[in-house]
Amino acid sequence: MNTKTSNSLFERAKQSIPGGVNSPVRAFKSVGRNPLFIAKAAGAKLWDVDGNEYIDYVGTWGPAILGHAHPRVIEAIRKVAMDGTSFGAPTELEVKMAELICRLVPSVEMVRMVNSGTEATMSAIRLARALTGREKIIKCEGCYHGHGDSFLIKAGSGAMTFGVPDSPGVPSAIARLTLTARFNSIESVKEIVDQNKHEIAAIIVEPVVGNMGCVPPVDGFLENLRSLCTKEGIILIFDEVMTGFRLALGGAQERYNIQPDLTTFGKIIGGGLPVGAYGGRGDIMQIVAPSGPMYQAGTLSGNPLAMTAGFETLSVILEDEKFYQKLEKKSQALEVGFAENVRSLGIPATSNRIGSMSTLFFTSSNVRDYQSALTSDTKRYAAYFNAMLEEGIYLAPSQFEAGFVSSAHTDEMIEKTIRANRKALERTLRAE
Ligand SMILES: *Cc1c(COP(=O)(O)O)cnc(C)c1O
Repeated sequence: MNTKTSNSLFERAKQSIPGGVNSPVRAFKSVGRNPLFIAKAAGAKLWDVDGNEYIDYVGTWGPAILGHAHPRVIEAIRKVAMDGTSFGAPTELEVKMAELICRLVPSVEMVRMVNSGTEATMSAIRLARALTGREKIIKCEGCYHGHGDSFLIKAGSGAMTFGVPDSPGVPSAIARLTLTARFNSIESVKEIVDQNKHEIAAIIVEPVVGNMGCVPPVDGFLENLRSLCTKEGIILIFDEVMTGFRLALGGAQERYNIQPDLTTFGKIIGGGLPVGAYGGRGDIMQIVAPSGPMYQAGTLSGNPLAMTAGFETLSVILEDEKFYQKLEKKSQALEVGFAENVRSLGIPATSNRIGSMSTLFFTSSNVRDYQSALTSDTKRYAAYFNAMLEEGIYLAPSQFEAGFVSSAHTDEMIEKTIRANRKALERTLRAE
């Protein structure tokens, strides 16, 4: 595989951008190679600047549920752009988008648009704090909620300790307000709530985790979180930045039939443009300025291009009643194919999948939380990733990320990917 142009662009990029990239995971560090610079994409395919072609399972980390450069989305953006790209004043597009989200997502009665998932989660916890007058929050180890100070936290040692910064620059005073529980362990959440009676403003959770690889909730976990929050007056926030419009039009909350108090969105909701949103019960959302006292604003929030890309993406999905069923079928075929390959080659592996989100973990453990995800053989994943790239398959450059199937993936591409998987696994074993 010739990657000369990518390599030289990377060298150049490192002179003017920290680490050569605008978001760390793009640097391919955990798979031990230089990143590929992308020239263009269409449907489920990507082309790098050296002309190599790949079937893409990253989907720009989630948004590309229709594949890349969907003709209807591109045409809608083009049309709206001709009339101006931002006004800093309200537009009908924002109203249409808000109405659509409220119609599709069971627990959302009102919604505020922002520009990224990070902004959405930051705003949602500010709102929970404003509402409850409490300052502490609980998150689960291994869940990612963007790069806000309150979320870049690792668990302190021992159950009694508070969170500590997971990055220089995060004030310890803020870190102490974030307490870390274990995903899929309601006992660990209850223990923290008991130790901090009437002090917890919110519990924020990815209802299906995508950010330690795909880790679905065990039976009862989300239900128990819901009843615990109701009992203790805690705001339950589902971070559906990844799962929203991915697992169903109503997200994970529709799939599992649980109503959180607040929900955060991003990724698919922007149809490939920078968008986030947070929404929930009307009485809670009314606290947001200017209808209430909690301040939150944005120069480009509700931007016409972004609203259009998101609205058109959701409209395309809405037109096909079987959209999610078809997506799930393809994703399942991929899972079954991979599982057969690892079994016949005798490779210890666990596959987690829900809908069109999945991860093949190189571990024999059942992966249900961060601790068990960490039992994966990341060196083997790195070798496998590189071998898949050679086969023309573009996977997430880390073991701890979910892979996505889009409606643009054809059955033929899925079959090709399963054959590539077998070859890549064989090559990985030979190299060990
Ligand atoms: C991607 C992601 C975020 C952060 O969104 P950005 O748009 O990258 O800021 C937050 N929460 C979850 C669950 C995510 O997957």
